[in-house]
Amino acid sequence: MKCIETGWISSEGPFVAQFESEFAKYVGREYGIALSNGTAALEVAIKALDIKQGDEVILPTFSIISCAGAVFKSGAYPVLVDCEPSTWNMNLDEVEAKITPQTKAILVVHTYGLPVDMERVQNIADRHNLRIIEDAAEMHGQEIRGRRCGSFGDLSVFSFYPNKHITTGEGGMVVTNCPKLARRCAQARDLFFAPPRRFVHEELGWNYRMTNMQAAIGVAQLENIENAIRKKRKIGLYYHESLKDISSIEIPRQRTDFSDNIYWVFGIILGGKYSFDASFAISELEKRGVGTRPFFWCVHEQPVFRKMGFYKNEHYPVAENMARRGFYLPSGLGLKPEEQEYVCGQVKSFFRAS
Ligand SMILES: *Cc1c(COP(=O)(O)O)cnc(C)c1O
Repeated sequence: MKCIETGWISSEGPFVAQFESEFAKYVGREYGIALSNGTAALEVAIKALDIKQGDEVILPTFSIISCAGAVFKSGAYPVLVDCEPSTWNMNLDEVEAKITPQTKAILVVHTYGLPVDMERVQNIADRHNLRIIEDAAEMHGQEIRGRRCGSFGDLSVFSFYPNKHITTGEGGMVVTNCPKLARRCAQARDLFFAPPRRFVHEELGWNYRMTNMQAAIGVAQLENIENAIRKKRKIGLYYHESLKDISSIEIPRQRTDFSDNIYWVFGIILGGKYSFDASFAISELEKRGVGTRPFFWCVHEQPVFRKMGFYKNEHYPVAENMARRGFYLPSGLGLKPEEQEYVCGQVKSFFRAS
């Protein structure tokens, strides 16, 4: 309300800097650069590291297209790795095996609720002199051995899309401890406007600014972040308890030895017993009044990249199975206990009958 009453709605307003500093502090970083969305944050992070044509960036094939898309748009090449079956996250043994003299960075994506072991990633990066971008878009408040996601590597990226733990409608942020990278991110977000002469540009950037109104929402959302995280975890644990005895499906692990699941979403992967795939389960549950969503589709199977001639003979069996046989249950912050009970009842009766 204060934002609207003052009339400061543009990106020049004071809530942008406030949201940047409060969110950066929340994750344990020195600097935050607020952006129009998480996809923009990935593009800006890659630009800030000077990743360009001839460079390779290693990332999981199982992720949102924003990650590989940002690498391609920079002119660099996304080198893919499969998932680890137990956490659904990128397989770090494969990361090591895919490093070449062209490799410039590892783009880590923490997926669905369990984080990647960033100590191990840091160790790999140190040994091979690589940069690290941490995509923590699904991990607001998640911790690895007690240290917040978003505090690892050279730059970390967040999204504030409505299905994330906190939202600004659309929005994103890059956080970093490096003043030089922070400055480059801020410039890339703002078309590389720079002194001494406005409208004279040394580099190409984007208009990816966040508005004061979005940032004001972000400041207010941040006040409530612990509630949001608690509620997500409660929803996740309820699903876990309710569904853990269905042996024909795979559900997320509650924890690893360095982290507890934050349950950004609660996924189910169909076991080998079922001859149908996730799209059938999704449509059957829809008929029973339960809205679900399919898992990500693998980068190496994206028609857009195949048409460009990439990844034609590459296979990543764990990720391919997840993309075909995985879907996730309702877990929005507005989900009521009786609705979740209904969902569990329907899911159980569907699997019992299948
Ligand atoms: C949501 C998400 C993004 C993209 O964020 P947008 O704000 O929707 O552009 C990027 N990476 C991951 C892992 C995400 O979950």
